[in-house]
Amino acid sequence: MAHIGIDLGTTNSLIAVFTDDGPQLINNSLGTPLTPSVVSLDKDGTLLCGEMAKTRLVSAPDHTAALFKRSMGADKTYRLGKKKFSAEELSAAILRSLKADAEAHLGQDVVDVVISVPAYFNELQRKAVKAAGKMAGLNPLRLINEPTAAALTYGLQDLEAESTILVYDLGGGTFDVSILEVFEGVMEVKSTAGDAYLGGEDFTAKLAEHLATTLSDVAGKPDEGALRKLAEQAKLGLSEKHNVDLSANIGGSELNATVTRDEFETLTAGLLTRLRRPVERCLYDANLSVDDIDKVVLVGGATRMPVIRTLVAKQLRKLPESRIDPDHVVALGAAVQAGLVGQNKALDDVVMTDVTAFTIGVETTQQVGRDAKSGYYLPIIERNTVVPVSRETVVHTIYPGQEQVDVNVFQGEAPMVKSNIFLGELSVRVPYNMKDYEAISIRLTYDVSGLLDVDVTILSTGKTKSLTITALAGEISPAQIEKTRKSLAALKVHPRELDENKHLMGRLEQCYVMARLTDREEIQQMMVHFESVIDRQNPSDITRVREEIGAVLDQFEGGYVN
Ligand code: AMP
Repeated sequence: MAHIGIDLGTTNSLIAVFTDDGPQLINNSLGTPLTPSVVSLDKDGTLLCGEMAKTRLVSAPDHTAALFKRSMGADKTYRLGKKKFSAEELSAAILRSLKADAEAHLGQDVVDVVISVPAYFNELQRKAVKAAGKMAGLNPLRLINEPTAAALTYGLQDLEAESTILVYDLGGGTFDVSILEVFEGVMEVKSTAGDAYLGGEDFTAKLAEHLATTLSDVAGKPDEGALRKLAEQAKLGLSEKHNVDLSANIGGSELNATVTRDEFETLTAGLLTRLRRPVERCLYDANLSVDDIDKVVLVGGATRMPVIRTLVAKQLRKLPESRIDPDHVVALGAAVQAGLVGQNKALDDVVMTDVTAFTIGVETTQQVGRDAKSGYYLPIIERNTVVPVSRETVVHTIYPGQEQVDVNVFQGEAPMVKSNIFLGELSVRVPYNMKDYEAISIRLTYDVSGLLDVDVTILSTGKTKSLTITALAGEISPAQIEKTRKSLAALKVHPRELDENKHLMGRLEQCYVMARLTDREEIQQMMVHFESVIDRQNPSDITRVREEIGAVLDQFEGGYVN
């Protein structure tokens, strides 16, 4: 039986198999191991995953969902056209397409897998990942913490002496720092820190903002999608060389610019500062200093930026390990763990349990101009706090004469509660008071057994109302998993063998948007030609024309950034 590991990522997902020669990545139908974690519903109700869905983030954003890993276990739905999906269902769609890729590659059914999860995922989020796996027809044997998987890929479990590893993971939209301790085949996550809203995409956004200011004709709204795409290409170019020349058509205006590495560094100075803090925090929480770190491992595509490598080396006074492609390390490590599970030698992957893995807080209302707006998150117990812990905060009624206050408790790191996980609610009566705002104390107490006590006290009367939150909210039942598995199985999925055609059409459309006016006619003719070849249904013609057009597009796409 094949031993399979999966990295279900925020921006990209990968699948790998453990072979006699070690872990190996499996390519998708487009010939690359990176499948964007994007799902889209086509006009005819067909579900598209990966690269083909990603090109639709620009052309059909209301039918397309990305970044849903952030809402695993949260009560949030994504609308794709007329259909609604949860984060688990969208993840299941991605997992199912990875499963199909692995089955096509191996020529056998793929069921048993190891899936990686962020070290800070709580029980509910971990269960959501397992549920997504089951919805995709997989059997998740185990989950592995992403930093542990990265360390496994580097073989760091075999280090002789006890050692301390810092895993620096800068992906597309998230930044995670973890400190691991390895000792006699056990890997323990000592602390985690990060920023759930900071990643490579923010670097692209800074560059796109800058490019917008260089547009020749700023009348009208610049085409944000095209601008971003160009900025992304420029960013990748700057990882290879010291400056890039750009020339493209953005929504009708000419863009001609040169960007140097130094300029890029200046543009992103604010982001670079933000990256320093979680590292300090993670060291502090693990009670360690920079000199205690034996090895630094880089994970995530954005760590390819030279400026990040320099930053890490300066801050940690050590050259980071970067021998293995930072986009691949987690999937490869998950496959290693799958191989070890197969030999009954699975590595013990422990997360320190005597700290809170997430922030706990309540919903608040803020005065926005003249309006009171609810939905804001007020953190009370910060993540990584040693348990047991008890923290109090005082809030006030929003208007005089208010007679009831609803305390909604959430866990999570997002600034708005809708992106966090709802834990429970408590309503308290407030004495009628037209003169003043009433002060209310909210005390949260969290203990080792995972019980959360909420005590709400009206300070003017001393009256307290309490609630104990035991079970994590919203766990998905086996019946629900089965129902979703069936409904996903019934959804039309774009046939794998047609993926390449679909992808080429997406590239043509994207190229058309960015092309200079003089080139547009040629691109349009290629579109028409390709459609007519597809209609004639001769497979060898389709392949030939696809390759011809692909080669022309390579030149066009390469032509915008030099
Ligand atoms: P991940 O979530 O690990 O797949 O990382 C994706 C992020 O890495 C995106 O923001 C990419 O733009 C970024 N990225 C990938 N390759 C490079 C590169 N060569 N240089 C700079 N950023 C990159």
